[in-house]
Amino acid sequence: MTSRVCLVHYHEIGLKGKNRSTFERQLITNLKRALKGRSAHVERLAGYVRVHFEDEDVPADVPELISRVPGVARVSVAYRCEREPEQYNEAAIESLKACEPFQTFKVHGRRSNTDYPIHSIDLNRQVGAVLCDAFPDKKVQMHQPDVTVNVHVVQSDVYVYADATSMRGAGGLPVGTAGKVVTLLSSGFDSPVATWMVGRRGATCVPVHFSGRPMTSDASEWLTQDIVRALEPAGIIGRLYVVPFGECQREISLKAPQSLRVIMYRRLMFEVAQAVAELEGAKALVTGESLGQVASQTLDNITATNDVAKIPVFRPLIGTDKIEIIDRARRIGTYDISAQTAPDCCTLFMPRRPETHAHLDAVRRAWETFDHDAMVKHLMETIEYVDFDTCPSYRPPRELKTRHRELAPAEWPENSAE
Ligand code: ATP
Ligand code: MG
Repeated sequence: MTSRVCLVHYHEIGLKGKNRSTFERQLITNLKRALKGRSAHVERLAGYVRVHFEDEDVPADVPELISRVPGVARVSVAYRCEREPEQYNEAAIESLKACEPFQTFKVHGRRSNTDYPIHSIDLNRQVGAVLCDAFPDKKVQMHQPDVTVNVHVVQSDVYVYADATSMRGAGGLPVGTAGKVVTLLSSGFDSPVATWMVGRRGATCVPVHFSGRPMTSDASEWLTQDIVRALEPAGIIGRLYVVPFGECQREISLKAPQSLRVIMYRRLMFEVAQAVAELEGAKALVTGESLGQVASQTLDNITATNDVAKIPVFRPLIGTDKIEIIDRARRIGTYDISAQTAPDCCTLFMPRRPETHAHLDAVRRAWETFDHDAMVKHLMETIEYVDFDTCPSYRPPRELKTRHRELAPAEWPENSAE
């Protein structure tokens, strides 16, 4: 009997030697989460993951959902056939028919299991001959044909699909296989893309957003939440921290030299992000900085901010042009949200002429004009968070129970008892 399934391909995971099964298990967990609420069965095959649905065809939106999960190289909607030539030949005809109009085609046969007596080359010949009979006006072309019909023998079944029902996936590695990072997330174009990029490499991301509240409205916080929701299919974020930053900025603007204010704000952001990283057990910070893009992103100013960093700071966009960032934002679904403007801490108490080439000595002197340690402590006491049920690898910090009990999830026993 023939049925329709999604065949999920991954390549990088296949390279991971002994860790391979850990990566595969995480990918399956993440796929199940991405398909939550549907009657999907997600199973491991040799070299693939198979997704099928109880008593129904593959719903139209499912391949796209699967393609957005990091670790997925490709997803193909395939016919699953028994090892019976009549069955898979018929499936090949149906697959090719769905690709009209086309002129040329070829068959790509592959055996993952060598116990199947028909060799890949013979599989190509056999299915190719059937297709030539069924489509007498089409030509076989081995180099760059219009359509390739894939016939893969995997374990006890044969999977058949043409290019038209196969799409590229996000690539990268399953989220949850590369540790945790804290990302500095604004509602601009850059940091959502930077967050997605490290998430795509398998990191569980914990974003921190600095709001201008109470000096500005909370509009940027809503936009940032929308960004987290837009990234939901990738399953990289479980919690968003929000830091009302306006009061501290005001105090800094009164005390520090005007031209160095932005660098002071940014150093404070890094300090708070590091405190969150400590709380969360995250091992690095991530920003959306791109070299020279704005005054705060010159090499001197990046150095001046980085001066307070005690853990690695990743800047995945450092060598990227804005146009490429915007292109990526469109593809990951954050463009429309980032295109809306909202006042956040970046628009608050800005100097008339910010320093573009800060000297570290002057920066360090300016840093001592206010009590930054007390500010970090205060900001960590007033920090807020929103949880999202979208990232299976995210575990909230146990430490939060004691250090920030009021922030602990309601279902924690100590909290619900109160
Ligand atoms: P973005 O588009 O990500 O906002 P940007 O081009 O506006 O970046 P900056 O404002 O200089 O650049 O910010 C550089 C980086 O600092 C951002 O990519 C982000 O990682 C972090 N950042 C800036 N503003 C905030 C904020 N309000 N909350 C959290 N992180 C922020
Ligand atoms: Mg910004």
